[in-house]
Amino acid sequence: MEKERNFSEWFDRVLLEAEVLDTRYPVKGFTVYRGWGYRIVRAVARILEEKLEERGHEPMLFPVVIPEDAFKREAEHIRGFEAEVFWITRGGDTELPRKLLLRPTSETAIYPLFKYWIRSHADLPLKMHQTVTIYRYETKATRPLYRAREFLWNEAHTAHATPEDAERQVREGVEIYDQVFQRLGLSYLILRRPDFDKFAGAVYSIAFDAWNPDGKVNQIGTVHNLGDNFAKAFEITYEDESGDQRLVHQTCYGMGLGRVLACIIAQHGDDHGLVLPPEVAPIQVVIVPIPYKGYEEKLKDYCSEVLKVIQGGGLRVLLDDSEKMRPGEKFYHWEMFGVPVRVEAGPKEVEGRLVTLVRRDTLERVRVPLDETVQRIWALFDEIMENLRRRSRKALEERVSEALNLEELRRGIEERKIVKVNWCGDQDCALKIKEEVGGEVRGYRYDVEEEPSGPCIICGKAAEKIVYVSRTY
Ligand SMILES: [Zn+2]
Repeated sequence: MEKERNFSEWFDRVLLEAEVLDTRYPVKGFTVYRGWGYRIVRAVARILEEKLEERGHEPMLFPVVIPEDAFKREAEHIRGFEAEVFWITRGGDTELPRKLLLRPTSETAIYPLFKYWIRSHADLPLKMHQTVTIYRYETKATRPLYRAREFLWNEAHTAHATPEDAERQVREGVEIYDQVFQRLGLSYLILRRPDFDKFAGAVYSIAFDAWNPDGKVNQIGTVHNLGDNFAKAFEITYEDESGDQRLVHQTCYGMGLGRVLACIIAQHGDDHGLVLPPEVAPIQVVIVPIPYKGYEEKLKDYCSEVLKVIQGGGLRVLLDDSEKMRPGEKFYHWEMFGVPVRVEAGPKEVEGRLVTLVRRDTLERVRVPLDETVQRIWALFDEIMENLRRRSRKALEERVSEALNLEELRRGIEERKIVKVNWCGDQDCALKIKEEVGGEVRGYRYDVEEEPSGPCIICGKAAEKIVYVSRTY
């Protein structure tokens, strides 16, 4: 497949031809979402927002600017983000009395307000979320959707009375993200990051690393336990039942919506273009008439009837009756856009009151009676999702390998694998791995307990964990 052989070119071609993005915006790291791409992203965001709100997160919208003094309150956090900050220093000709920055993430925008909102234990837990763009001056090579200087995400922030409740919230955050990604048929590893790679200011970080055809993992979401680090810096306290002031415990989590879109494209797409999960497809069904001499009027009437029937079934459907393209060109066009089901109607279908259904994921065809069409399409959606999920999971399984020595690890990384190795827990050994093979220690499984099978692959000392090593975006 072209996707496997030359992922980068394939990906760029799909972004362009399926009108996902326009990458010609004249500022490095900033791109334009076009209609088709943005509608997919919005559908993903809606699934996530709905889930967050079901679990008590209130939607909010904070300003994009953060004052310098708030940003600089948590020491670790500054160290992690300072080099990536866009600063605003002037308004018109006037030098601003205090510098502002564009949010690289919103802890330091939100937590000064948490301080006002949280008074007593009755105000806890406090859970909010927002879908916004964030800004990071990335110095590595930028890549549309994978690594940009402006990107769209959803971030959630919570505050709790006890460490136990914050711990429970981390599990809830992981569960919500897992459910959203499963709805989209994606496959990934849920990894606890090594301490040297955790979010700046966190106690620990959990990440969702999705497989990508080029062998670089794509981090599509992260969940952090912040402990009371930010509560100390921002003096966020509450009065407990006995009247004592206590620090809150916090969590935050973020899902990169552009990266989730990249993941949908990369994991499900094929050489014909996008393959979209029906739930997020802007158009779920396209009707293509197959004209035949002498049947023009009958076919036109029949296709209008088919359209009404499918619309009545609550589906997002388009009748493509334009005369600018021949049927074959229309097939090619809508396959590129990833529309899950195509409905074809020609003379045979008109005569028999039938339609031909073609599913996008396998391109298999089946002819069904018109009055069963809606029901069959909904059933096809389930089958498509099951197939996408299975294919993606299989691809992940095939990509994970094991290595007992550096040579095997090197070969695994060259073969674009995610490689399991025994690791002692020492950062020096992780750095050595990166130097030697170009892959990074991504962390150990969060959802599965795995025992080391031998000594550390680098230093030979007793191993603490089985960790996953791969190249990354
Ligand atoms: Zn070691």
